[in-house]
Amino acid sequence: MPIQRLFKTVAAANGIATDKAFGAVTPPLYLSSNFAFATFEQGQDYEYSRVANPTRDILADTLAKLEDGVGAVVTSSGMSALHLLLSRVGPGGLVIAPHDCYGGTHRLLAALKERGQIDVEFVDQGDSAALNAAFGKEPQLVLVETPSNPLMRVVDISAIVERARQGKAKVAVDNTFLSPALQQPLRLGADYVVHSTTKYLNGHSDVVGGAVIAADPAEAEALAAWANTTGVTASPFDSYLTLRGVRTLFARVERQQTSALAIARFLEQHPRIAAVHYPGLPSHPTHDIAARQQSGWGAMLSFELKDGLHGVRSFVAALDVFTLAESLGGVESLIAHPTTMTHAGMGPEARRIAGITDGLLRMSVGLEAEEDLIADLSQSLSAIG
Ligand SMILES: *Cc1c(COP(=O)(O)O)cnc(C)c1O
Repeated sequence: MPIQRLFKTVAAANGIATDKAFGAVTPPLYLSSNFAFATFEQGQDYEYSRVANPTRDILADTLAKLEDGVGAVVTSSGMSALHLLLSRVGPGGLVIAPHDCYGGTHRLLAALKERGQIDVEFVDQGDSAALNAAFGKEPQLVLVETPSNPLMRVVDISAIVERARQGKAKVAVDNTFLSPALQQPLRLGADYVVHSTTKYLNGHSDVVGGAVIAADPAEAEALAAWANTTGVTASPFDSYLTLRGVRTLFARVERQQTSALAIARFLEQHPRIAAVHYPGLPSHPTHDIAARQQSGWGAMLSFELKDGLHGVRSFVAALDVFTLAESLGGVESLIAHPTTMTHAGMGPEARRIAGITDGLLRMSVGLEAEEDLIADLSQSLSAIG
């Protein structure tokens, strides 16, 4: 008898042993771009891989289940997933976005606004007065990103959903930083979830991909239809690799966040550190919201060196186990310097307003031994002269 599967089981085993051709335990990779008609005028489930592909469909089904949605569209990147989501906003419709959203998201929203396709307001969503004022302008869509990048600020998804329900606004959450293993926005009332599957879902830093998951069947259908129209659906090979990554999602994230908490505690007591931003620390300003809406603290954190840019230079030069690189969510531990890397495009004034200082570093904690990671941080902090 089929049992009600927990999300962990879905991640590990959705689609396993369902192959009808040979009983393959692992669902096969169907690279084929096209599928033969059974007979004249009689197509089958699959005809052309831009529209639908069996490998991509298993990934989509798995992601929809993990987010507790009714359907998912798997796209070529996180950015194409966000662009697909924005296709649900009518001409000139207002989108409320976080003032500290992902740089690529900021660029996309600003470009669409400049072209007159949509209107956008960038708002500090932790500021209830600013958020209320923006809601007064009758937005069609509110985009939420929590925790935020790179300062790990957490916003209350349920509160934003509740406010949105007073009008006609839909709520979308970019769940890239936590993955469905640690946060399920649709269960908090959101209408859509967006992912850069490049990050935790694939988890091995070898695919660029994205997904949009919808809570409503008509929305899921409309998104799938537009993804086919514009041709942004993901390749079968990328889908295969991403599904392979999803199999170990929970195990990876659980291990990574255990190390992240140990690292946050180590950094917090270190004399060369001015501040640590990690939702799992009781000192974090939105620790309580994170405790309510997340099922874990995650494996992303940021910290500020007392010695500023000078300190950063010596520190990153001394790193051995950590790699200086952008992106996140992989098995390898990374450190990025927002001022010169991920957030360089913002310019100094916008960074100052957002609270991104020159001494700030962002970390994605991987699967290496926690002891090695802490030893590397310790020796690199000692290298600051
Ligand atoms: C990386 C990222 C994106 C963009 O995804 P790509 O796969 O790089 O196109 C969007 N949102 C967040 C939060 C991200 O970290």
